[in-house]
Amino acid sequence: HPTASRRPADAITVQSENTVYTDEYITSTFHNRGADVVVQEGGRYVVKPTVTPFEFRTQRKVPKTGLMLVGIGGNNGTTLVATILANRHNISWHTKSTIQRPNYIGSLLRASTIRLGLDATGKDVYAPLSDLLPMVHPNDLVLGGWDISGVPLDAAMKRAAVLEWDLQRQVAPYMKELGAPLPSIYYPDYIAANQEERADNVIPGNDKGVHLAQIRKDIRDFKATNGLDQVIVFWTANTERFSDIIPGVNDTAEAILASIKDSHEEIAPSTVFAVASILEGVPFINGAPQNTFVPGVIKLAEQRKSFIGGDDLKSGQTKLKSVLAEFLVNAGIKPLSIASYNHLGNNDGQNLSSQRQFRSKEISKSSVVDDMVAANHLLYKTKAEVEAEQGVSGKNTKNVKGEHPDHVVVIKYVPAVGDSKRAIDEYYSEIMGGGRSTINIFNECEDSLLATPLILDLTILAELLTRIQYRELATRKAAEFKPLHPVLSLLSYMLKAPLVKPGTDVVNSLSRQRNALECFLKACIGLEGSSDLLLETRIW
Ligand code: NAD
Repeated sequence: HPTASRRPADAITVQSENTVYTDEYITSTFHNRGADVVVQEGGRYVVKPTVTPFEFRTQRKVPKTGLMLVGIGGNNGTTLVATILANRHNISWHTKSTIQRPNYIGSLLRASTIRLGLDATGKDVYAPLSDLLPMVHPNDLVLGGWDISGVPLDAAMKRAAVLEWDLQRQVAPYMKELGAPLPSIYYPDYIAANQEERADNVIPGNDKGVHLAQIRKDIRDFKATNGLDQVIVFWTANTERFSDIIPGVNDTAEAILASIKDSHEEIAPSTVFAVASILEGVPFINGAPQNTFVPGVIKLAEQRKSFIGGDDLKSGQTKLKSVLAEFLVNAGIKPLSIASYNHLGNNDGQNLSSQRQFRSKEISKSSVVDDMVAANHLLYKTKAEVEAEQGVSGKNTKNVKGEHPDHVVVIKYVPAVGDSKRAIDEYYSEIMGGGRSTINIFNECEDSLLATPLILDLTILAELLTRIQYRELATRKAAEFKPLHPVLSLLSYMLKAPLVKPGTDVVNSLSRQRNALECFLKACIGLEGSSDLLLETRIW
């Protein structure tokens, strides 16, 4: 299948004075074009275009990379392992209607293309996104990880009941070779009580410092045993409850390390994994909604210059929402309410049937339309306008919010539908002259089959981003190449509640997220301006 095929490492070569290839690096010059805007009284805008020259440098050698999944025995974990094994060993399977070949459909990197330019006849030329820079091929990922359930991977895949039986049958011997997951950290208070009987494979004791040391050792051992250059640690375990943010406990890098040592109760298992990864200098990605990245963890990542990304995979309903809400608001139509219902019957659904875990998911799903609403003050009153309308000022304005559509999210556990999640959304909008428009969506999301390609994209991109460095050309003192900021917001496309560099704004719009990624990867090979202007089609 084309999405699984191997392509030459130098499938795209740019011929330009802005792009220099050596054996070790691809170095490019890029002009970051922006604008400084002053908003004056009476709603006038004064705009000054800005240009900042940068150099990007990408290491060309693709490292031997391992992927350690936390929750490898779950639906996502086993689906990901089985999919890679099926692709690696070229296993086809019978369905009731056809013979299915393995592929990576649903992966932005492996199954989508980017427009490079025009050929000699004036036709658009599209290349696979993964051809832009040297990236790990998913088939080459060395797989391992932890689970609080000790069921071996072949049996865990069967328990997940996601894949066709004929695929399971053929891939099972390879899954068996991978054995059972490593024992993991279990603090019962963090996940639903209904998960307790799964927890038969846990690192003993209550000493969180000991747990941290064990996870760090697991990462080092995995690297050494498999002769790896790089490891990515990925949380695809159950959704945890939120941790309280307590000053002195988890708000600084020092506090978080001390609190782990003291086994403080507000340290979640996922936070121990994140801290272990940061201390080992390997990227950590959170595929679930909880606030693993409490402020102290982000500060520790900054201190150690170790990469992190999150939160929560954006596979179905939210992905559609980040397209539809943007479409409506950008079309000048005003959503008044967005009501979302889900039901699902897998283990994730059972865990989310517990209130505190549902709350984590609700929070991660809820802010997805915020930036689109904030971007259109013609439709929605700003905070200042609401304040003026209500006549509040000074301290009293703290609880005043800008106008916003009503937005509710409901999730119910319905065992019968298994991994096939149903998502129902109503978009109720104001149109011209006080009219109303209603759009109803029924979206059936085969959860783990949608989530697995996202885990691959996040892993492969995170690895790539560790190999890219930059320097500003304008400021002489910053002549050294530097790594990117540790919070990898370029991963936002795949994430429901994207974590961004502290102090910067979240972008939820799916098209802007994709555009950012595409522009960045193109910038690294010296291609600027991926615009849809198509000027040549507008002029004589
Ligand atoms: P799952 O319940 O099938 O798998 C989770 C696995 O994690 C289980 O095997 C469980 O035993 C294990 N686990 C729990 N706590 C652990 C710990 N502390 N250490 C190691 N293992 C632990 O769930 P899933 O469907 O695979 O989803 C995994 C996560 O991804 C969930 O948090 C879910 O909310 C999130 N997610 C999934 C999707 C999707 O479309 N599938 C989308 C967004 C987010």
